[in-house]
Amino acid sequence: MSNDLRYDGRVVVITGAGNGLGRSHALLFGARGAKVVVNDLGGGAHGGGKSSAAADKVVDEIRSAGGEAVANYDSVEDGDKIVQTALDHFGRIDVLINNAGILRDASFAKMTDEDWDLIYRVHLRGSYKVSHAAWPHMRAAGYGRIIMTTSSAGIYGNFGQANYSAMKLALLGLGNTLSHEGRAKNVNVNTIAPIAGSRLTETVMPADVVAALKPEFVSPLVAWLAHEDCSETGGLFEVGAGFMGKLRWERTLGHNFRGRSFSPEDVAAKWEKITDFAEANHPANVNESFGPIMAEMGKPGKGG
Ligand code: NAD
Repeated sequence: MSNDLRYDGRVVVITGAGNGLGRSHALLFGARGAKVVVNDLGGGAHGGGKSSAAADKVVDEIRSAGGEAVANYDSVEDGDKIVQTALDHFGRIDVLINNAGILRDASFAKMTDEDWDLIYRVHLRGSYKVSHAAWPHMRAAGYGRIIMTTSSAGIYGNFGQANYSAMKLALLGLGNTLSHEGRAKNVNVNTIAPIAGSRLTETVMPADVVAALKPEFVSPLVAWLAHEDCSETGGLFEVGAGFMGKLRWERTLGHNFRGRSFSPEDVAAKWEKITDFAEANHPANVNESFGPIMAEMGKPGKGG
C-alpha cells in the first residue's frame, strides 16, 4: 500500500491560484485526489484588470491530469462567493489556502492612499473575507485547515513595502487568533512566508534566481499543513528553494523593576540586560508572555 498523503473527498479552495504559488498548490492538491476550487481574478500584478483565462488554464491542467477542479473568478474581497462556489459544486469546504496577492511598492514618502488601501483590500480584507465565509462551515463540520500567506517583508520589514509588510504581518495576527479559536473544532490555522520565482518577484530578482526558486518547492509544506494527519496549528514557517523552517518569538530575560517607581535613567542603566539575548525565553501565547511577569509582581526587589 502506498503511503502517499491523499486528499480524496476533501474540498480545497485556493485563492489566486491562476499563477505562481497558488497554481503550484492547486496542481499538487488536484493530483492527490482533492476537489479544487481554483480562484483567480485574473488581474495584473499591481491590481488592475480582470480575466477568466488564468483560473481556466489551471482548471484545464488539473482536469487533463485526471483531477477534479472548478474555476471561480471573484475577487477575494467577495470571499462569500468563492466559498459558495465550493459549496455549490462540491457541497463542503475542508481546506482554504489564502494566497491571492498583488504588489504596490513605493517608498513610504511616495506611497499614496490608493497604494495603501488596495494592498489592505486584497491581502488583509481578502483573507479575512474568505476565511470568515469558510469558518462556520469548518466549525460545523468539526474539521478545517487554513493557511495564511505572509512574507519575510512583513516579518522583518523591507524598503519600499510599508503597505505590503503591514498587511502581511496582520495576516499572522489573524492566523494566530484563528488557531486559538479553531482548536476545539479541529480547525488548524498556520502561516507560511514563502519565497518563489513568480511574476511578483521576477522584476526584483535576477532571472537565474527566479528560475531556481520554484513554486513547487513551497507547495509540499502547504499540502502537509493542510492534511488531516498534521496537527500543527498556530505555526509560522519560512519556506523556499528547498528550505523550510519554523519561526517563533524570542524574548530576553529582561529586567523587572517589580512595581517600584523607576525613571528613564533606570531604564537606560539596565539597557544592556533588557536587550541581552544571551539568556532568553520563547513565549508561545499570551499566558506564557505575561504570566511570569504577573507572578513577579509584589515580590521584593533584588536591589539595583
Ligand atoms: P502571482 O502574481 O504569481 O500570483 C498571485 C495571483 O493572485 C495572481 O494570479 C493574481 O491574479 C491573483 N490575485 C490578485 N488579486 C486577486 C484578487 N483580488 N482576488 C483573487 N485573485 C487575485 O504571485 P505569487 O508570487 O505566486 O504570490 C502568491 C502569494 O505569495 C501572494 O500573497 C504573495 O504576496 C505571497 N508571497 C510571495 C512571495 C514570492 O517570493 N513569490 C514572497 C512572499 C509572499
